[in-house]
Amino acid sequence: MPTDTQTSVKFNPEKMTQRYQLQETRLQEKMLDGTTRCHLCSWRCRLKHGQRGFCQAHVNRNGTLYNLSYGIISAIDVSPIEDKPVKHFQPGSQVMSIGSYGCSFRCGGCHNLDISWGVSALDGLAKGESTEAYVSPQQMIEVAQRHQVQGIAFTYSEPAVWLEYVSDVAQLAREAGLYTVYVSNSFVTDEALKEIAPHVDVLCSDVKSLDEEFYQDICRASKVQDILNSIEMANKLGMHVETRTNIIPTKNDDLDMLKGIAQWIYDKLGSDSPWHITKFFPAYKLSDLPSTPTELMNKTYDVAKQVGLKNVYVYDDKGCDCADENLTVSEYLSIDADEVYTIKKCAASCCGDEGILLKKYESKD
Ligand code: SF4
Ligand code: SF4
Repeated sequence: MPTDTQTSVKFNPEKMTQRYQLQETRLQEKMLDGTTRCHLCSWRCRLKHGQRGFCQAHVNRNGTLYNLSYGIISAIDVSPIEDKPVKHFQPGSQVMSIGSYGCSFRCGGCHNLDISWGVSALDGLAKGESTEAYVSPQQMIEVAQRHQVQGIAFTYSEPAVWLEYVSDVAQLAREAGLYTVYVSNSFVTDEALKEIAPHVDVLCSDVKSLDEEFYQDICRASKVQDILNSIEMANKLGMHVETRTNIIPTKNDDLDMLKGIAQWIYDKLGSDSPWHITKFFPAYKLSDLPSTPTELMNKTYDVAKQVGLKNVYVYDDKGCDCADENLTVSEYLSIDADEVYTIKKCAASCCGDEGILLKKYESKD
């Protein structure tokens, strides 16, 4: 008797296209009734034909799930790795940060909405009307080499929701002698983590709180223990792990809870594991809150030291890893802007409309 099937599409450099094309979602379960289940992040969205996942970056088309954002680049920047923040992996090196569109959270204080959620950019891709930049994995390695960086960081948007591209670029980067950094909320499945862990060097992960309520209220997702387990698993799988906590006044500023995070890091990742304490700057739905008092950040540092953490860093001028004042993507690519920002229609022809997604967009069930 036939059963539902789980698919894991493997890295194949020969199959990577130089033009924008929808890519099959790497971890998906195809159901006999035509629905698909995505296993990239802990939402594990179950989708019918035409539906997109919570992140908006994956769409079920005729029983197969596709990633819309493969190779679509929202922002690029070059900076020291310490800016991510990562302090104990190749200090002093330069990293090229890249992001796409889409996140598995909807944080009330997010500074990056256009990029991190990227809803209008992802709508444009679904409709075949997008003019966002496409950079193939091989091109991305060439861009990084031309800018003489030592590594590539996947950041700004949530890497788990365009894991297909992250995984392909990371494998080519390793072959080219470049390291990779994965800046994440760690709302990721074990399967996805196992897919990327062999190829990615560093995980820089948020531990936003230990309270389920905080995640539900602020991020629209729960399962604190799953997030902690993912970080612990990344560490066990051999990734270099550094964690960060953005302290939001009245939301996750309880000193006992913050001490609990420090204790968790000490117990699960070790006393040497770096913890970065960053400042909240008011934004979006949390605009009415003040920024984090420096005194509180210093007290958090003190309790972390009491717990026994050796590498605790306080940033009075740094919040999330945002992309707001970068050069345009075309400037990094050294390609004429007209060429970079042409309309993106899927290069494949399997869906019948000369590869054009326009007219085939269904936003709702
Ligand atoms: S990446 Fe996460 S949010 Fe997006 S479709 Fe997959 S399970 Fe859903
Ligand atoms: S703050 Fe980070 S995790 Fe939260 S929505 Fe923005 S990009 Fe996503």
